[in-house]
Amino acid sequence: MEVKPPTHAPGAWPVFGHAWAVQLLQQALTNTGADGRPVHLSHAYLFLGPPQIGKTTFARAFAQAILCETAVGHPCGTCRACQLVARNNHPDFRLLQPLDKDGNPDRDKGELRTEQAADLIREVALRPVEGRLRVFLIQDVHAANPYFANKILKTLEEPPEHAVLLLTAQHRSAVLPTIVSRCQVLELRSLDEKTVAEALSTGWQASGSQAQLLARLANGKLGWAVGQLARPDALSQRQEHLETLWRLMDADRVERLAYANNLAAGRNSRQLFGLIEVWMTWWRDVLLAQSGGGDACSNIDHEDRIAAHARAIDSETVREYVKTLTRIEGYLRHTVNVRLALDVVLLRLPALASARD
Ligand SMILES: [Zn+2]
Repeated sequence: MEVKPPTHAPGAWPVFGHAWAVQLLQQALTNTGADGRPVHLSHAYLFLGPPQIGKTTFARAFAQAILCETAVGHPCGTCRACQLVARNNHPDFRLLQPLDKDGNPDRDKGELRTEQAADLIREVALRPVEGRLRVFLIQDVHAANPYFANKILKTLEEPPEHAVLLLTAQHRSAVLPTIVSRCQVLELRSLDEKTVAEALSTGWQASGSQAQLLARLANGKLGWAVGQLARPDALSQRQEHLETLWRLMDADRVERLAYANNLAAGRNSRQLFGLIEVWMTWWRDVLLAQSGGGDACSNIDHEDRIAAHARAIDSETVREYVKTLTRIEGYLRHTVNVRLALDVVLLRLPALASARD
C-alpha cells in the first residue's frame, strides 16, 4: 500500500511541528528585492535533527516555497513548480542523497560520493532555467565523504548569486564546522507525541487508536510512523513479535535454540531487526514500569502485562537483557555469525515462571 502525501490546509506548509522554523523561513521569503530575490534568503540552510523527524520533507517544502509560481512565503503545493519539486523533476531543483557503491540511494550505509560532487560543482555554476534561483537539497551531509564535504565547503565560500543550498544532517558534530558556520542552522527537535498523533490522523487519516499507538511507538519520529501506515501488517507483525517473546519466556532451552535456528535460517534481516526492535521496546517498558515511569511506556495496549513482568522479574536481569539486545543488534549490523548472536538473545531471555535455563 502506498501512503498518500498528507493533506494540508491551503496556505499552510506541508510540515508537522517545527512551527518556529516554519515561521522563520516564511519570513525569509516574504520581502523581495528589485531583482525578485527574497532579500532575507540565505545561501545555505542546515536542517539538523534526529532521523525521521521530517528534515528532508521540511527542506523540500522550503525548496517548493522558493520556486513556487503562485504563492509567496509558503508552497502552494499545486502549481507546476511545486509538483515538479515533489517529484524531483524541476529543472532548478536538485536532490543529492547518499548512494551505495552501485549508485542506489542508501541512507543507512551509503555516502555522498566523489562523483556526485562533480555534479554539484557543475550544476551550481549553471544559471537557473526557469526562475531566479536554483535549489540544491543535499541529504545527510554527515554521510558526505571528505571530498564531497570539501566541495560543499568550496561552494559555500563563494556561492553563486542564484544558488540556495539546503543541507540536512543528524548531528552538528558530524558536519565540518566550517560548513556549519556558513549556514543558517535550524536545529529541529523530535516531535512530541501529540503532534505525531495529530499529524497521523489529520494528514494521513489514521484512526484514533492507531494514531495514538503509533505516536507512542514512534518516539518523535513521524517518518517512522508514516512508514508503518504504509505497511498494514506492521502492527500485527509487532503483536506477533510480542507473542513470540511471551511464549519463549516460558520455553525451555531446546525450544529457544530451535527458534534461534529458524530465525537465522530465514535470513530475513527485516524480520530479524523488527523482532529485536520490538523486544527492545518491551524490555524498556518493563524497566520504566519498575522505576515508576510506566506512563511513558511504548506498548500502551499491553500495560497489564508490562506491569506483571515488572513485578515478576528483577530489574537487574531486565537491565542486563536490554544491554544484551543492544549489543547483539550492533553485532548483527556488522553481520557476525547470525546464528550465534541469536542463540545469545534467546538463551539470555528472562524466564517468567522460574529461573529455567
Ligand atoms: Zn506552488
